[in-house]
Amino acid sequence: MTDPLSPNGAPRPRIVIVGAGFGGLAVAKALAGADLPVTLIDQNNYHLFVPLLYQVATAALSPADIAEPIRHILSEAPNVGVVMGQVAGVDTDARAVRLADGSTIPYERLVIATGSTSTYFGHDDWAPHAPSLKSIEEARAIRTRVLQAFERAERATDPAERARLMTIVVVGGGPTGVEMAGSIAELAHHALARDFRHIDPTTAQVVLVEAGPRLLTAFPEALAAYARGSLERLGVRVRTGEAVEAIDATGVTLGGAVLPAATVIWGAGVRASPAAEWLGLAPDRSGRIPVAPDLSVIGRPGIYALGDTALCRDAAGEPLPGLAQVAQQQGTHLGRALRVALTGPAAGTSPLPPFVFRNRGNAAIVGRHAAIFDFGRGRRLRGFPAWLLWAAVHVVLLVDFAQRARVCLQWLWRYLTYRRGARLITAPPAPRA
Ligand SMILES: Cc1cc2nc3c(=O)[nH]c(=O)nc-3n(C[C@H](O)[C@H](O)[C@H](O)COP(=O)(O)OP(=O)(O)OC[C@H]3O[C@@H](n4cnc5c(N)ncnc54)[C@H](O)[C@@H]3O)c2cc1C
Repeated sequence: MTDPLSPNGAPRPRIVIVGAGFGGLAVAKALAGADLPVTLIDQNNYHLFVPLLYQVATAALSPADIAEPIRHILSEAPNVGVVMGQVAGVDTDARAVRLADGSTIPYERLVIATGSTSTYFGHDDWAPHAPSLKSIEEARAIRTRVLQAFERAERATDPAERARLMTIVVVGGGPTGVEMAGSIAELAHHALARDFRHIDPTTAQVVLVEAGPRLLTAFPEALAAYARGSLERLGVRVRTGEAVEAIDATGVTLGGAVLPAATVIWGAGVRASPAAEWLGLAPDRSGRIPVAPDLSVIGRPGIYALGDTALCRDAAGEPLPGLAQVAQQQGTHLGRALRVALTGPAAGTSPLPPFVFRNRGNAAIVGRHAAIFDFGRGRRLRGFPAWLLWAAVHVVLLVDFAQRARVCLQWLWRYLTYRRGARLITAPPAPRA
């Protein structure tokens, strides 16, 4: 049977997936081996394991430990073609994706999984002074800034300038900010402790700033309080209830006073990719595309959206959070559903089943001994057992076996020795240098 949505009457509709992150890759994997032509487009040639980016930024892991070439991941899927290209728009009338280089790729079914980007809440001028953590380039830039600041402090003669160079401010008390602050404190107070002759890295100040009344608002209060205590024991100064007023080359302004800091890291806000614009749709406040329970884009037949770029609600009407496990489960669900719907006996006619999210536990790590896990409905775990579970989950989720073994060994080595092998300055010098 031909697909009613197929404009050229092809026996099997072409599925185009934009984005090879957690969501898009899961769709492609679920369609691997199906009698369906699939094209997966991504601006990078690798899949990035975003939750471990902070470990690259703090010299615990190297970029190659958390990224895997997309072609390698899908090498056993002959029906899935990979295109490296940046999508710039969608022509919904012609049913084609437009790439930034001017070329087009036709589709009969389109899956949009382009994730999210950082937002500075209208203060884009802060971005050069406070890199965010969304890509390998940014993680390397942060690592360079932190390490360069210590190098400069080693040679600084003015005590005030030395103190500024040895102050690191992390903005945003969500999981990204908490993980970054804890990991930087460990880097400064332990891994770098004996590397310098004129400065004492254990006196470096790590400050975590959150505008709201408490850290980790997505977690129960007791777990958030435990995380705060763990951070403070690591030497992080936590400042809640203080909104950032300005960020420039000298530091951060809070409550009208400048906190001098050579390194500022932005972990405060995310916004969905501009995919809603491509489809001519009104997004929600966070830029997301509203989708129906089966992940189809309302008013755009044959187009689906998932992951961070989609606004998908649970049975109670609450928006699903921007988490890797949400994107991955949605991708697997949609890939399987499309496979059945487009290759089964009633190909092209049956509606897709609704997506139901199963919470496998929301986690944040606070240093090498501690983590928090919230499984919902009052089930929680914290401390070292939570850290072990977190490490096991993340190692299993890492794509390739060799990568898993490597990361496991590095974590074990680091755990036993406090060493960080990846503390190399390789990115271009920071602009404020
Ligand atoms: C620092 C950090 C830590 C996190 N930690 C956790 C955690 O511990 N646990 C958890 O569950 N979640 C965590 N998250 C959230 C999680 O990473 C996201 O929810 C998840 O990555 C969303 O998956 P996605 O497929 O929607 O998007 P992504 O995984 O971001 O993938 C989007 C893909 O689309 C591609 N793309 C984007 N635009 C274009 C374009 N125009 N053309 C072509 N390709 C494009 C990108 O290159 C990317 O490969 C973290 C996020 C961050 C930033």
